[in-house]
Amino acid sequence: MFKFSGKSLLAEGVGVSVLAEKLGTPLYVYSEASLIESYRSFDKGFAKFPHLICFAMKANSNLSVGRVFAREGAGADIVSGGELYRALLSGFHPKRIVFSGVGKTMDEMKYALKKGIYCFNIESVEELHALNAAAKSLKMKAPVALRVNPDVQADTHHKITTGTKENKFGIPKSHIVETYEIAKSLKNIAITGIQAHIGSQITSVSPFEKFLKVMLELVDQLSAKGIALKHMDLGGGLGITYNKETPPSPSDLAKAFEPQLKGRSLKLLFEPGRFLVGNAGILVTQVIYRKRTGHKTFVIVDAAMNDLARPALYDAYHEIVPVHKNGSAKETVDVVGPVCESGDYFAKARHLEYPEQGEFLAIQSAGAYGFAMSSQYNSRPRAAEVMVSGKKWKVVRKRETLEDLIRGEK
Ligand SMILES: *Cc1c(COP(=O)(O)O)cnc(C)c1O
Repeated sequence: MFKFSGKSLLAEGVGVSVLAEKLGTPLYVYSEASLIESYRSFDKGFAKFPHLICFAMKANSNLSVGRVFAREGAGADIVSGGELYRALLSGFHPKRIVFSGVGKTMDEMKYALKKGIYCFNIESVEELHALNAAAKSLKMKAPVALRVNPDVQADTHHKITTGTKENKFGIPKSHIVETYEIAKSLKNIAITGIQAHIGSQITSVSPFEKFLKVMLELVDQLSAKGIALKHMDLGGGLGITYNKETPPSPSDLAKAFEPQLKGRSLKLLFEPGRFLVGNAGILVTQVIYRKRTGHKTFVIVDAAMNDLARPALYDAYHEIVPVHKNGSAKETVDVVGPVCESGDYFAKARHLEYPEQGEFLAIQSAGAYGFAMSSQYNSRPRAAEVMVSGKKWKVVRKRETLEDLIRGEK
């Protein structure tokens, strides 16, 4: 919950400028109430169907963010051994963890088997054999869903579409039945479900509807071959409003799915990431300098592409607002960071109240793929993260120090 009270931006009951003064910038601020609200709207939206919502941890893997969802009863969708480690520390029950990704290593698979996770989403025949061998070495049976590449367009940015035949993800739908037959023949594999994830920041219902149709056709083909599935995992991808997008709500999606799902008892799994965290976080930054070149006006801030890579990576739009409105006239500016790359910008030709030096700005909708994608590029210590709950706040990751930059180096 980020809103203005008079001229000042609040995170729930706390002034954002208070946090920036106390903790320094760049600073990620999360709202616990927003995290809970987005989770519950998903959960309620699909209340009609047996379901499990597995938070895609790669969107924001902070332990305290995970903890909020774990407390709500969510599961986790992980993509590495590192995320499994984090998920368990956050308090996610292993029986609610699914493991995605095209390149799980033997060590990662054994780690997850020992922890007893709910399901491995398997993306190739070779990976299936590797998992079978890993499970055999531990005298276990590995629960498996095959990830389908349904070849549907998600109508999103090309770098975040994942379900077309051009993408590396999943097993082509034309090979799915035969791959399940291989899985069935492997002694240390237990078939439990089917999965797919078609992309991210999807802002209309129709790609999901088409995709559901493909999935149900496969479920029926498999059932005709005597392969019964317990769950169908529809991945993540539901978009959020960064600017003027009007994505469907989870209950809109559920309504659209209802006719196709009637009379089926499959448990539905979802792997939302962005939807759960995107608008629950902002990145607060301070204006260092302004520069008028005659051609353009630049506002140079202390956050950079190493803190929030989305504009540089995807030309992503993030709303920027002053933390305290100063009432000055609006101007058209580029908001840029200090990193030595022309791609290091947060906004181009943006109409903003012209900020003073030293003022704080809030880059909005930064809760997903923000800190999680951050790096130390240009030897910049990573930002601090703080969680606000009502009038209280807690630092959930300390700002990195210069010593942190060289840890492990000689
Ligand atoms: C990235 C990813 C997600 C989450 O995507 P969002 O768009 O953030 O909801 C879910 N499942 C898989 C397999 C992913 O790779």
